[in-house]
Amino acid sequence: MPLISTLESKFGRFAIPGLVQIIAILQMIVFLILYAGPAEMKAGVMLALMPDGGKIMSGQVWLLLSHVLVPSFGSAFACLCLSSFSLWLGRVLEEAWGAFRVNLYVWWLILSLGVWSIFFGFPLSSYWLFNTLIFAVAVLIPNEEILLFFILPVKMKWIALLDAGAMFFMFLASPMSIFLIVFANLNFLAVFGPHFLKMWLHQGKVAARRSRFESAQLPQGTFFHQCSVCRKTELDDSHLEFRVLDSGEEICSVCRAKQTGA
Ligand SMILES: [Zn+2]
Repeated sequence: MPLISTLESKFGRFAIPGLVQIIAILQMIVFLILYAGPAEMKAGVMLALMPDGGKIMSGQVWLLLSHVLVPSFGSAFACLCLSSFSLWLGRVLEEAWGAFRVNLYVWWLILSLGVWSIFFGFPLSSYWLFNTLIFAVAVLIPNEEILLFFILPVKMKWIALLDAGAMFFMFLASPMSIFLIVFANLNFLAVFGPHFLKMWLHQGKVAARRSRFESAQLPQGTFFHQCSVCRKTELDDSHLEFRVLDSGEEICSVCRAKQTGA
């Protein structure tokens, strides 16, 4: 039994069903507070949610996780679009994987980013969770169309490509961010890396086989046998049979019949 199934049978009951959707709804609530709440409340919420090495060491370990609730939306419209997208991504992923695997995938990211921020103090946001969900769903259903901003139909694979492009620009703007980018995609690489590697190796094998096959195909007009008497080949008459003479030359069944008088 693969490790993941063993873990699932032991710890599956601890998985929170609809985890992604719950996070999306909490993010919306936090966004509403940050967007419309009084100033002191905003500051309080941010302080309560963002990870801080000192606080975590003094026992506030939930700060390792709570950062995921800090929304990365710039406007109420973005909040509406991205939150509804998150709800959908969470549902698709849970249908494909079941709650336990989604929990593992999401908690891994949240926890590792929390640990990362203790050491490097990057300002974290829900973007990374969003990113990891987009990538996973894009691999599972690359050609599924979603309505961007509720109007523009775009396939999941293009959304993932846009997202990868955004990360690339992040890297160009600050090359050191490559470490954070890799770190924040480790869960995705762990789940899909072996699958990509297998696919890549398989494609290599298929390509090698095809090129062997193609190089074995001979150009038109190539023949294997030619009669040394009438110069006919099997291309001239597919019914001809050829024999090899003692001299090493070939002779067709017609000429041979003539020679032997049979
Ligand atoms: Zn012949």
